[in-house]
Amino acid sequence: SPRPHWLLGDQLGPHFTAPGPEGPDAGAPLVMIESLAVLRRRRFHRAKAHLVLSAMRHRAAELGDRVRYVRAGTYREGLRKAVGDAEVTVCRPSSRPALALARSLPGVRVLPARGYLVDREDFADWLAGRDGRRLRMEDFYRWVRVRHGLLMDGGEPAGGRWNLDRENREPPPGGARALELPPPYRPAEDEIDERVRHDLDRWERQGTVSFTGRDGPRRFPATRAGALAALRRFTALRLPAFGPWEDAMLAADPVMGHSLLSAPLNLGLLHPAECVGRAEREWREGRAPLAGVEGFVRQIAGWREYVHQMYWHAGEEYRHSNALGHRAPLPGWFQELDADAVTARCLSTVLAQVRDTGWTHHIPRLMVLGGYALQRGWDPAALTDWFHRSFVDGYDWVMLPNVVGMSQYADDGRMTTKPYTSGGAYIHRMSDFCGSCFYRPDVRVGERACPFTAGYWAFVHRHRERLARNHRMARPVAGLRRLRDLPAVLEAEAERGDGPP
Ligand code: FAD
Repeated sequence: SPRPHWLLGDQLGPHFTAPGPEGPDAGAPLVMIESLAVLRRRRFHRAKAHLVLSAMRHRAAELGDRVRYVRAGTYREGLRKAVGDAEVTVCRPSSRPALALARSLPGVRVLPARGYLVDREDFADWLAGRDGRRLRMEDFYRWVRVRHGLLMDGGEPAGGRWNLDRENREPPPGGARALELPPPYRPAEDEIDERVRHDLDRWERQGTVSFTGRDGPRRFPATRAGALAALRRFTALRLPAFGPWEDAMLAADPVMGHSLLSAPLNLGLLHPAECVGRAEREWREGRAPLAGVEGFVRQIAGWREYVHQMYWHAGEEYRHSNALGHRAPLPGWFQELDADAVTARCLSTVLAQVRDTGWTHHIPRLMVLGGYALQRGWDPAALTDWFHRSFVDGYDWVMLPNVVGMSQYADDGRMTTKPYTSGGAYIHRMSDFCGSCFYRPDVRVGERACPFTAGYWAFVHRHRERLARNHRMARPVAGLRRLRDLPAVLEAEAERGDGPP
C-alpha cells in the first residue's frame, strides 16, 4: 500500500503531490502538521503567521479526506500522531534546519526537491570547471535561459541581447505620485481566515506566541486558485509596466509594477516555470515589451534559482559569515518596526510598509533597509533573522543569500562584486522620498545632513583598506581624500549612535 506523504507548509501546490518514480507513491495518503513550536521560536510578523496558517488550512480543506491534518507541539509529535511508526515520504525540505530535522526523524524518507527550475544535479553540471569563488548570477542566468529555452530564438537570446537591465533602471516618472496601473490581485478573506485570526488572538492572549507588525487584511493568495489569479492578473495587466521602474520607489505606491508573487511562489503555490512561461507568452504575442519581460524572467529564472542554489552550495557556515566584522545589535526602534520614531522619510516610509504589510519591493529592502544596516555595521545574522521574521515571503533559503550575501557583503563578495549601499543621492534619484524630507541628500554635516549620505562616507571610511582593493569601490575610497568635512561627518555619525535617524 502507498506510503503516506508529508506536505510541509511551503509545499502547497499540486506539483508536490503528483506521484512519480522519485516522488510520492500513487494515491499516497497525505499528512500535514501545524506545529506551534515554529511560531514560538521566532517573533514573526503577524501577517506572515496568518498567511502561512491560512494557506496550510486552505490546502487541507481542498484535499479533504485525503489528508490527515494534525496540530501538534512539534513535527516529531505530529508525525507520530498522524502515522505512528509507518514509513512516510517527504519532498526535500527547503532549509538546512528542516532537512536535518526530517533526516533525524525515524521512518522519514526524503525525496528530491520539487518546485525549482534547476535541480541539484543540473547545478553540479554548471559548476563543473568553474572557479567556485566567482559564481556570478549573470553567467548562471544565461545558462538557465539556454537550458530551459527561455526567451531564446534558436541559439540566440530573443532580441539579440541577454541583459536589458539598462532599460529597466528608470527613475520614477517625473511628478507622478503613483504608476496608475490596474491594482494587483487582492484575495477575499473567508471563514478559514477568520478562524486563523481567532487562533492568533487566542495564542497572543495566552502568551503562547507574540508577533510584530500590524494585523491587516490578508494581501497575498493562500490557495492555488488565488495564486493563479494573481499570476494571470499580473501578466495581463501589470507586466507591461514591470520593466522601466523596477528599481524606482514612490512613497504613495509601494507596489508599483512589481508582481507580489514571491509569497505564493515561496509557499509552493506557483511553480516558477509557469510564471516565466506565461510572461514569455505575453511578449511573444505582442502584449508586453521585451525589456520588462526579460527583467521579470531574470528575477525568477535568474535570481531566485541562483539564490536557491547558492544557499545549498555555500554550506552551513555561510549563515555565520561576517567578512566586515559587523557586530552592532539591531536597535529597538528597528526591531519593533517603529516607523513613527524615524525622521528620514525613506526609512520611515519603508519601515511603515513592513510594519503594515510584511512586504516591500526589492530596492527598499536592498538600498534602504539593508543599506542603512550595512552603513551602521549591524550584525548580519541578527539582520537576517529580522528579515526572516518580518517579511511574508521570508524563508531561510532565500533570506540567507539575499541578506548575508547580496545586502550585507558579509560573504566577502561571493554573491556581489561590491557592497550595495549608497548615499542619499541614489535614493533621491530613484524615489520621491527626499523632496519633503527634513534631511537633504546632498548635505553631509549639520542638522540637515542626510543619514544615508553621512552613513555612506562613514562606511567607506571604516572599510577603506579592504574597499580600496575592489576595483568597483576604488573611486569612492579615493574620494574620501577630497572630503574636507570628513572628520565632522565621522564625529556626527558616531554621535548619532543607534537612535532612529
Ligand atoms: P518582483 O519584483 O515582481 O520579482 C519577481 C520574482 O522574482 C519575485 O516574486 C521573486 O520570486 C523573484 N526574485 C527577485 N529577486 C529575487 C532575489 N534576489 N532572490 C530571490 N528571488 C527573487 N525574496 C524572497 O522571496 N524572500 C525573501 O525572504 C527575500 N528577502 C530579501 C532580503 C533582502 C535584503 C533583499 C535585498 C531581497 C530579498 N528578496 C527576497 C528578493 C526580492 O526583494 C523579493 O523577492 C521581491 O521583492 C518580492 O516581491 P515581488 O514578488 O513583487 O517581486
